Amino acid sequence: MRAVVFEGVGRPLRVVERPRPEAGPGEVLVRVGACGVCRTDLHIRDGDLDEPNLPLVLGHQIVGRVEAAGPGADGLPGMERGARVGVPWLGGTCGACAYCGSGRENLCDTARFTGYHRDGGFAEWAVADARYCIPIPGDSSDAEVAPLLCAGLIGYRALRMAGPGRRLGLYGFGASAHIVLQLAASEGRDVFAMTRPGDAEGQAFAKELGAAWVGGSDETPPEPLDAAIVFAPVGALVPVALRALAKGGAVVCAGIHMSDIPSFPYADLWGERSIRSVANLTRQDGREFFALAPRVPVRTRVETFPLERAAEALERLDAGRLRGAAVLVP
Ligand SMILES: [Zn+2]
Ligand SMILES: [Zn+2]
Repeated sequence: MRAVVFEGVGRPLRVVERPRPEAGPGEVLVRVGACGVCRTDLHIRDGDLDEPNLPLVLGHQIVGRVEAAGPGADGLPGMERGARVGVPWLGGTCGACAYCGSGRENLCDTARFTGYHRDGGFAEWAVADARYCIPIPGDSSDAEVAPLLCAGLIGYRALRMAGPGRRLGLYGFGASAHIVLQLAASEGRDVFAMTRPGDAEGQAFAKELGAAWVGGSDETPPEPLDAAIVFAPVGALVPVALRALAKGGAVVCAGIHMSDIPSFPYADLWGERSIRSVANLTRQDGREFFALAPRVPVRTRVETFPLERAAEALERLDAGRLRGAAVLVP
């Protein structure tokens, strides 16, 4: 099969021929229909996350069809041969640590992540632990569904962490924000979308999706915010978002990696404001989000690329030159 392989920081992504993987115990073999490109893939490429299992197939927003099941995985509901499934970032947990035992498997000490510890979906085939796959019914295309597997899921978790307040700010308007905006607007919230300064096209897109107000991240939203989600990997935006909050508000940092956060006066945090991160996802998030998304309904905007153009897709994401989400279609 063809796969896009990452061999180390500073080395170009290569499309190689590899043997098709086989489903081991508890695993399913998935024919990849589409795999979304995430900012986390960029962080791995650039060495910001330093435990990749090299050589590595990136990609953790996989949508495809089950081709075969290994021992113990055949007959699991939703994992039958031919069934459409999604493979998300959370690829496995220990099931035994204090986090796993308290509904917080996203924090598991020895969690295994797709496209990081185990090979992901920038390939024609992938194997995954069936217990962490998500059944994906419906007739939307694989490419349209792919961004839901991380941009959507992490965005959903971040939105829940942000609390129920009406006035929500989004800093950084990419794949995740364009999904969260639709969720929040459907709940009757007022969404204030902050793009890169001067990104008129991004602002028009946010407006089209139902934002109450759009502007650059260097502008102050017209009302104090009940919560802000920072999607951009830019630590300097955290004190900016904090200053935009009403008392009791929260800044939620949704990225896995961020540049350092500059210091700020305690007065900006005073008034029961808070700053927190969101890490990974649980299977419960997956169940909730994939039940909710068709009811909204969430519509994704995607740009598709063949495997051969994976490096270009990552470059475009890095440069902010995508409208919506990049998706590889083998
Ligand atoms: Zn991701
Ligand atoms: Zn655990």
